[in-house]
Amino acid sequence: MPTTATLPSCYTDLGVLRREAATLGSIAGLVSWDQETYMPKGAAMARSEQMGLLARLGHERNTYPRLGELIGACESDASLMSDDRLAANVREMRRDYDLKTRLPAELVEELARVGSQAQEAWKLARGDSDFKAFQPWLEKMVSLTRRKGECLHAGDGELYDALLDEYEPGATASEIESVFAPLRQRLSAFISDINTNGAPPSTAPLDTKIPAAQQHAFGLRVLKALGFDLSTGRLDVTTHPFCSGLAPGDTRLTTRYRDERFTDALYGTMHEGGHGLYEQGLPKTDALFGTPLSDSISLGIHESQSRMWENLVGRSRSFWVWALPIANECFDNALSAYTPDDMVKAVNTSTPSLIRVEADEGTYNLHVMLRFELERALIAGDLSVSDVPGAWNERMKSMLGLDVPSDAKGCLQDVHWAFGLMGYFPTYTLGNLYASQFWEAILRDIPDLESGFERGEFAPLLTWLRTNIHAHGRQYRASDLCERVTGAPLSPEPLLRHLARRIRPAYGLGE
Ligand code: ZN
Repeated sequence: MPTTATLPSCYTDLGVLRREAATLGSIAGLVSWDQETYMPKGAAMARSEQMGLLARLGHERNTYPRLGELIGACESDASLMSDDRLAANVREMRRDYDLKTRLPAELVEELARVGSQAQEAWKLARGDSDFKAFQPWLEKMVSLTRRKGECLHAGDGELYDALLDEYEPGATASEIESVFAPLRQRLSAFISDINTNGAPPSTAPLDTKIPAAQQHAFGLRVLKALGFDLSTGRLDVTTHPFCSGLAPGDTRLTTRYRDERFTDALYGTMHEGGHGLYEQGLPKTDALFGTPLSDSISLGIHESQSRMWENLVGRSRSFWVWALPIANECFDNALSAYTPDDMVKAVNTSTPSLIRVEADEGTYNLHVMLRFELERALIAGDLSVSDVPGAWNERMKSMLGLDVPSDAKGCLQDVHWAFGLMGYFPTYTLGNLYASQFWEAILRDIPDLESGFERGEFAPLLTWLRTNIHAHGRQYRASDLCERVTGAPLSPEPLLRHLARRIRPAYGLGE
């Protein structure tokens, strides 16, 4: 295996070019974060120009012919390619380069520029619950995204697969459908069973009104205890919470506060915190930053990290044994009438609701499947944009039994399609599936893991994740990592077992 001193110049030169491209990407990420957090409305046009220019420059950097030559030279260096990690880095750089060089620069710039404007139009349309105002922008984004799919599409399969592959390398829509179909059926039966045969627990603790400033203080205490390093990260407020791992030493989280249901912000913060812990755990060293080994595997694996901290940890009894006294400290004893058991039952209900980001664990994946079906049909040309509200409302009725009162609470609730993020939604459910399967493996390795949470000891979990998942960067495909870590391919069973164990007792039913 070559040491750093003996690495061939093609490999080190490649690292320098990739690092420059990643630095440009981090600047684009920073102005995008600013657009979501502090940018004045009047800056929207200038910002879309900035985003467009940065996207074009980034694309140029990522498609330099010199990059292709250097990757080719690395691929023919037998000594370099005999090292698993270095070979994986070269393999992934080849993948990135081939995908990026298939996209014309003008399309990349247009997607960024129109996407930035569409995002502003979405904000206004959502505020007014006016789908018609957003429709022309969504039409533009669907058309641009289809063009992108056509450029990336190789071989057989549907256009949607080419878009999906960007977020979940190697996955296809039909494979996903084969996992989602039985999951959907079992979940529907599960939700119907608990709501028919069980007694819903009291959610009174969640009605306690908590001022935003107190919620923010509590959120920061929790993040810190989980191991999120606030000297290399921040927590701010946006309409749509997100995490941005901008650069080494700079991971930005956002959340949103309402007076009611302080747990929405808490779990939003823990969710984005889980993404942030992954970003902070990736090996973004001087030698690796900008290369695939410092990058996450896929959005599905990224989401497995956020959902693990949000749900597997945050909705457990042992978490609330530790967190309730701290919440009372931050909230002037507003929750002093409640026990950890009251809290754990209140946060483990499963009731159909309209908003995906506020949905409980039991119903959440049905929201994802609805979006997966619609965006797959939009890209295939089987659904026109003007029919989106009707198709949305119809599925909300058939899948969750709900009438949608307004588009703001229906098809305008998520920002993804305004950005052209199609092929992205299914990664949320893949994340839930991976999280539960990893969790069973972690409990085999650390049987007393959860009792440590009662004392605020989250480090054993974080250390396990750092060692088994974060440290590898993008060395493995998601499916390979799953087999390596859990000894089995991805299955819906661990998620279904987890939901039964967590939610059924809250309804007074046996596990
Ligand atoms: Zn997430």
